[in-house]
Amino acid sequence: MSKHKKRSWAEPYKIKMVEPVKMTTREERQKAIEEAGFNTFLLRSEEVYIDLLTDSGTSAMSDRQWAGMMMGDEAYAGSRNFYHLEDAVRKYYGYKHIVPTHQGRAAEHIISQLMIKEGDFIPGNMYFTTTKLHQELAGGTFVDVIIDEAHDPESEHPFKADIDLNKLEELIKEKGADRIPYVSIATTVNMAGGQPISLSNLKEVRKLTEKYDIPIVHDMTRVAENAYFIKDREPGYADKSIPEIVKEICSLTDAATMSSKKDALVNIGGFLAVNDEELFDKARNMVVIYEGLHTYGGMAGRDMEALAIGISESVDYDHIRARVGQVIYLGEKLIQMGVPVVKPIGSHGVFLDAKKILPHLSQDQLPAQSLASAIYLDSGVRSMERGVVSAGRNPETGEHNYPKLELVRLTIPRRVYTQAHMDVVAESVEAVYENAKDIKGLKFVYEPEYLRFFQSRFEVL
Ligand SMILES: *Cc1c(COP(=O)(O)O)cnc(C)c1O
Repeated sequence: MSKHKKRSWAEPYKIKMVEPVKMTTREERQKAIEEAGFNTFLLRSEEVYIDLLTDSGTSAMSDRQWAGMMMGDEAYAGSRNFYHLEDAVRKYYGYKHIVPTHQGRAAEHIISQLMIKEGDFIPGNMYFTTTKLHQELAGGTFVDVIIDEAHDPESEHPFKADIDLNKLEELIKEKGADRIPYVSIATTVNMAGGQPISLSNLKEVRKLTEKYDIPIVHDMTRVAENAYFIKDREPGYADKSIPEIVKEICSLTDAATMSSKKDALVNIGGFLAVNDEELFDKARNMVVIYEGLHTYGGMAGRDMEALAIGISESVDYDHIRARVGQVIYLGEKLIQMGVPVVKPIGSHGVFLDAKKILPHLSQDQLPAQSLASAIYLDSGVRSMERGVVSAGRNPETGEHNYPKLELVRLTIPRRVYTQAHMDVVAESVEAVYENAKDIKGLKFVYEPEYLRFFQSRFEVL
């Protein structure tokens, strides 16, 4: 064996407790997916073998975090754990003030209601479902100003979440800076396939928005994963630590919403972070109406403690390298098998290109939804649609929004599955791909008004 052979890495932890998962037969899965109306969100988790529905709230906590749970101070006001959380946010992210919330969308609700006026426009690096909906409910219109490469699953651009500065400046000139309450920046961009934004681009965005006096609101749900890609790919950052990069990203923005169910390694929680004193006062007042007192905001004391510890673990280099490394392992395996996926592989999941896998289905026949059902049926692996069903309808015309990307997301929970699980997933997707021409489309039989992908039901065409 060569001395120079690249050495393998392994997870920087060992397993102390296990949770058995159920193996099912094809007949059982057929029954389960029919009962779920061919929507993987409506399956019972007991019917799932490997659950790649989402990386949200599905992380395994460390022994330190579990120990922190026992140190919960469940006082109604001024819990010790809140101050630990506030310290962690200041230390690792650098924002001045935090308002805890039960999860990310609650923080989005507060910031949208406080900053957006009827008729405003909110530019951003591609939409996220709940973020965009809260902007719309506050009277605003989301405008996508991400670079074109983000919409091209073939493009190997290393920073597909970068903002197109021309698109952004044109929008500011067309609508007027006073109609743009803030620019919305996500690290990483979920809907583009978990793709990162570069620090050089974020600095340019900062320069441009300062010229027009427009603040930046940061959706920091996966900021540590974004920082890992910057360290790995962006010139000048190889020797910077993950905490240094995370802090630099946050320093270029004015406020942040966080779903700590992702990067921050807890099962529930979130917060709004702001630097502006006046905005902080308003947010702290508003959280009392919707979430709870400003020192718990919908979280138990023990949950805030686990989150404070999770934040520090999330920026550990060995952790984040193994986390993103596992996602890339699955992605490269699928690429070797010839399965069309979004490239480069993102930070939190592998996104299958359903338009390419099922070329015989039109977008109206819901190819990504159909593919997710087929994968479940093959192996009990649960994935999620990210295509026309997730994109919803245009609120004015009532027509489907037709996104360019029609994807199925295999999302990897943090610290939960092994490399052997990834092998089983890859083999199942390969088997489905080989018989893809037999997969039939779906049609809606029930469709709720908001965020329809969660609860819609379908029938095979
Ligand atoms: C999950 C998520 C949210 C919403 O957070 P919740 O905790 O699910 O309410 C917002 N933005 C992004 C990018 C997300 O992935």
